[in-house]
Amino acid sequence: MSEQTVGILGGGQLGSLLCLGAKKLNIKTIIYCDEENAPAQTYSDEFIFGDYKDKIKIQEFIDKVDVVTYEFENIPFETLDLINQYKQVKPKPAINKIVQHRLYEKDFINKCNISTTRYVSIKEKSDLNANVKLIPALLKTCRLGYDGKGQHKLNNSTDLENLSIDFSQEYILEKLINLKKEFSIILTRYGHSIHSIYEPIENKHENQILKYSKIPADIDEKIILKAKDWASIIADDLDYIGTICVEYFIDKNDNLYVNEIAPRVHNSGHLTINSYNISQFENHIRAICGFEKEELKKIYNAKMINIIGDEIVSYRSKNYSDNEFFFDYGKKDIKANRKMGHLTIIQK
Ligand code: ADP
Ligand code: MG
Repeated sequence: MSEQTVGILGGGQLGSLLCLGAKKLNIKTIIYCDEENAPAQTYSDEFIFGDYKDKIKIQEFIDKVDVVTYEFENIPFETLDLINQYKQVKPKPAINKIVQHRLYEKDFINKCNISTTRYVSIKEKSDLNANVKLIPALLKTCRLGYDGKGQHKLNNSTDLENLSIDFSQEYILEKLINLKKEFSIILTRYGHSIHSIYEPIENKHENQILKYSKIPADIDEKIILKAKDWASIIADDLDYIGTICVEYFIDKNDNLYVNEIAPRVHNSGHLTINSYNISQFENHIRAICGFEKEELKKIYNAKMINIIGDEIVSYRSKNYSDNEFFFDYGKKDIKANRKMGHLTIIQK
């Protein structure tokens, strides 16, 4: 087991933390990323810089690894499929194809008899006009959105009239939910019904970007059971291997909805590093490398703060006490709305 090398597509903070999880298990990592300064190269054993569509570079990567995973869902499907012909990609590429497209993703969730907000496919302006009744709503690009990017809020029909968007892309119009709470369930699946599920993590967003996460979540036990059940159904239905995150909404009438699925480790699970015996990252590596499942044990309650844009400057010069864990993603440029680091505070 210890001789395995894991290939990771993507070299951001999730890639960095996956490398650290692997290191604990004495497993080697190779990062492949299309960004020359990718932060994760500091933590991996090897780094390959190349375009995700560069077949020669990808082949070089394939030859060096035993199993491949990814830190974000927007890797071209063709690349994952090509790699999978030589070395197993986990979770399997077919899953990515569903989850990287908001419409296929929501269709899939509903097919599992699980609730989402009401939604409709938007291909042209007339589709919008025909669905005015869904407003207030969010118009989202079907592909490539993250941290609220590619989303337009439509509060009324005037917003719709003033909207100017490019219809060369596909969109989804989602009814706006009157949110009471957001939370996530992180689950690592090892095989059929072999799941290790972290307790729900309560999340607060600012400007559609995750800002705070905490455990325990202040949520009714019945809702928690339903959410865990739904996450298990989703993971089994996808025949998922590794760590998956399901994001949930609770509305003001206590209705539960799945917002979206992340086929990977998730920002809200950073606090598992300091609060659990096994973090979401280590658990992912364990599952994709064929380890046996180990029981999860929470050690501490915790909260996490995402450090966005130039907030990082003051965090870099702070002194921290022994229950505070600051992680600087080491990104070269500070940009507004960019996740630059995080701070986890455990409650001893
Ligand atoms: P991203 O891929 O950017 O994370 P999400 O669909 O999760 O996209 O949207 C980001 C955030 O925007 C959500 O966590 C939530 O706070 C808000 N949001 C998204 N969709 C809705 C909705 N239908 N109703 C209410 N709030 C929403
Ligand atoms: Mg989201």
